[in-house]
Amino acid sequence: MRPIRLALLLCSLPFVSAAISLQSQSLNTNFARDPQQPIDQDYTDHIHKYTTDPTFTSPLVDYLPASKNVPTPAKVLGDVSGAPNILPYAEDVYKYFRLLAAASPRVKVYTIGHTEEGREQIAVAIADADLLKNADTNKQRLAQLADPRTINFDDAKARDLIDQSYPVYYITGTIHSPETGAPTALMELAYRLAVDDSPYIKFIRSHMVVLITPVVEVDGRDRQVDVYRWHKANPNQKYPHLLYWGHYVAHDNNRDAMGMTLDLTRNVLNTYIDWHAQVLHDLHESVPFLYDNTVGDGPYNAWVDPLLADEWAELGWANVAQMQSFGMPGVFTHGDFDTWSPGYLMFLAAMHNGISRLYETFGNGGADTEKRILDPEEYSRTWYRQNPPWPIVNWSQRDNNNYEQSALLSTISYFAQHTHHFLENYYSKSKRATQKPTLEGPAAYVIAPDAAATNREVELLKVLQRQRVEIQQLSDASTCSIAGEKRGDKPKQETFAAGSIVIRMDQPYSRIADALLDRQFWAPDDPQKHPYDDTGWSFTHLFNLKVVRVTDPAILKAGMKPIEDPATLAGKIDGSGSVIVINNSGQVSLLSAVYKLKGAKIQVAEKAFDADGRHFNAGSLLISNADDKAADALRNLALDGTKISAAPSVPMHDASAPRIAMMHTWLATQTEGWWRYAFDTAGIPYSYISTQTAAKEDDLRSRYDVIIFAPVGHGSTLDIINGLPRWNNPMPWKKSDITPNLQIGDDGTDDIRPGLGYDGLEHLRTFVEEGGLLITSEDTAQFAIETGFAPGVSIASKGDARVVGTVLNTTFVSKDSPVVFGYTGNLPVISANGMAFNISNTIGSRGGRLLMDPYSERPTGRGSLEENDEPLGRKAVEAEKLEKTQPWEAKKLNEEQIRNNFSVIPEQLRPEVILRFNEGKSLLLDGLLDKASSIAEHAVVVNAHLGTGSVLLFGNNPVYRGETIGDYPLVFNAILNHDHLQRTASPAPAPQDQKPSTPDSTSKPTGN
Ligand SMILES: [Zn+2]
Repeated sequence: MRPIRLALLLCSLPFVSAAISLQSQSLNTNFARDPQQPIDQDYTDHIHKYTTDPTFTSPLVDYLPASKNVPTPAKVLGDVSGAPNILPYAEDVYKYFRLLAAASPRVKVYTIGHTEEGREQIAVAIADADLLKNADTNKQRLAQLADPRTINFDDAKARDLIDQSYPVYYITGTIHSPETGAPTALMELAYRLAVDDSPYIKFIRSHMVVLITPVVEVDGRDRQVDVYRWHKANPNQKYPHLLYWGHYVAHDNNRDAMGMTLDLTRNVLNTYIDWHAQVLHDLHESVPFLYDNTVGDGPYNAWVDPLLADEWAELGWANVAQMQSFGMPGVFTHGDFDTWSPGYLMFLAAMHNGISRLYETFGNGGADTEKRILDPEEYSRTWYRQNPPWPIVNWSQRDNNNYEQSALLSTISYFAQHTHHFLENYYSKSKRATQKPTLEGPAAYVIAPDAAATNREVELLKVLQRQRVEIQQLSDASTCSIAGEKRGDKPKQETFAAGSIVIRMDQPYSRIADALLDRQFWAPDDPQKHPYDDTGWSFTHLFNLKVVRVTDPAILKAGMKPIEDPATLAGKIDGSGSVIVINNSGQVSLLSAVYKLKGAKIQVAEKAFDADGRHFNAGSLLISNADDKAADALRNLALDGTKISAAPSVPMHDASAPRIAMMHTWLATQTEGWWRYAFDTAGIPYSYISTQTAAKEDDLRSRYDVIIFAPVGHGSTLDIINGLPRWNNPMPWKKSDITPNLQIGDDGTDDIRPGLGYDGLEHLRTFVEEGGLLITSEDTAQFAIETGFAPGVSIASKGDARVVGTVLNTTFVSKDSPVVFGYTGNLPVISANGMAFNISNTIGSRGGRLLMDPYSERPTGRGSLEENDEPLGRKAVEAEKLEKTQPWEAKKLNEEQIRNNFSVIPEQLRPEVILRFNEGKSLLLDGLLDKASSIAEHAVVVNAHLGTGSVLLFGNNPVYRGETIGDYPLVFNAILNHDHLQRTASPAPAPQDQKPSTPDSTSKPTGN
């Protein structure tokens, strides 16, 4: 039953009966429709039919204007936007926008790029025809406002430009594929903007361009529609959650605005910059009924212009007030989303002098109308949500579309009324970003030449370039003063050699460079107790580089020239002779070389050596029989080579191209997706298998040298083994007539429910025992430990330590494991939650049995703390010497503890600690760290041994979001040396292992 709405909303009645819907009483005449324009009655009737309550709509969207020649979304959908049971593929969405563009001079469609799987991404521009006709001229004006250097910071000139320009408001939909409502909402929104003659709409389209990308994650959208179709075709069955969204990642596609690894991020930024848009407004669906997190919550990102924070407040609160005036319940803008991390898609705008915004509306993950039952924290009334969502609601996709459109139209209208103001701010923010060196600092970031780091430096510069940051190189040496390390330290002079890279801060997009290269500190007592995402991300640290923050503007006067292609900084070959050496210095493309240089003989030097007057690290590659193409390959890989006259006489082994399997579960695929991304980008081939494949394949070792079991993302060991519950129907994940888009490559299954199983577990164990290398991280490291694959390793208790996506400092423990080849000093890692390991020389959880520490405690008796007690009435007997063990070490066993103890791990199979966390004082690099004592100095990367193979365990995730370039070589070194990870020599025996035993208080019971 739908209430009767008043056709003319201008007509507001002072007294109305309760039977008339709330929004009909609206006094808000800003959004009145044109009484002369006919409405599309059938479409309007269907809008009413699918809206489940009269308060879930507004005067802006409770009718549809009619047009003689412009098709409505029903033309493609067969029903109205938001109709139940209808979820269009991206192709159909595009089809509609192209029909719209063909019918209306107020609409233009542009291809903005393609996804990893080749699907098109579009942007749709909507404005008056003459605005669109002159769009290029407008872009040129906005480009000058975006880069005040082009007008010599002349405010008068800027004012002229602002007077002539119209702004661009960019809306993006459906980056998160299970959040399904935006495409149909945006189809209808575009129709309204093109067709409606309401004064407020006419004002919008004559004062600004609305730019729309209706589907950001196109690969994921098509898979989501597949799943929905399967659900509709199998109405009484359980259907799978969306296992794959994009080709690589799911939800994390909205964490890519720093690394810019994904095509969707690059295409959206390019579009945003090309149009010089003022706003990037991203649509999501997870919160009832509409959370405009434009205001959000603290802490705010420390690198945004304060003007932006004010714009957030202005737009967010105005928008909520407008929605309130329509009587729509459950709309709010303050909330628990902190605005700290710059990783969200919308933040591309915040970091490029625009305005970032994001809506969370309420979606059903499909087009079913459902009874939704909210949690108390969702429907409770709070100071910022005086009109909260309903505790129980019958909710439709149309309701969701009503909220999305009402909020967008009202906020765009507000924006259109204030274009001058927002263009002024846009210019001011661009100007202030370009004046950063003198206004606020720093002046620049500088990277001194360091041949060992150039390969990783190229990776960093490529990210900055994707972010549209200008990069320069010093032509001559330059001396300037550098701030002291700590508050109050005196500045010191530093000279940067010619060839140093300079990221000047007097450029328009200085803020993103500053945010990526600077350090982050999240106070442990910050009122925000639930960081929304990582608290630290310094690319300086995560790329394992030395990047100097220079506040002295003198650096900007030094001679320098722009670098167009950072890749040209590396990839040179010098020297002469028949053997090419690539010094191992932690390059991300060293492993790739083994696959790219087909036909050449490649060996790994196991020790450091000198040749032709040069020093080369252990792990360096020696290439002989290289053909002419080798130089090209090395250049493409940004690997420097040195020709030497003859191979050195150091131990070396052949570097075959290891056969790699990347094993995933059917529980979740996002976190391992970042590993696939890294390997694909590096050009390292692998087979993509599931745990079900491992369950079926009883000789994994004959097929693979290395199996990578990247993190599942909160997968327990039992989940990995058991899979999903079997009490429901099978759920396929494979290509079919109704699901043509589901599969990634060849890897599909008739039923996603079975996990690794106990067969798979045995196959995996045999694989390692027969010499394979299993690489694990976070939850899969836990899996390896809990299933006995890593004798002597256990998970360290975190106690009350707080780590939330924090960059922590680590120290190398093993000096000669091939895993550490090329590394020196410390290595920053990003730790999700402080996971670390305890090491023991025995298996079982009791290996780390607590012994009295004679250095810090002793019983009451004679002497001092440092002396022995000597009981009277008998001769003194010297106790077994107890050695102090470090938190990353295994406790040494004495003869008593070893005797007939089945649990003692043979020396050659004892776990080898590769990396440990630093001590508490020097542990934190970036982000939040509190109460670190229980994890400080504990092992974080361990090489465990089983049979003749190895299990590499990472407490951190070394291959994460394209951000952990500095850690990649740990993984690549391990793969390159997969058959040389066994202990080559027994560890030196502990002194007490050799001593005769004496009675002590820790004897195991012997029944005496
Ligand atoms: Zn979302």
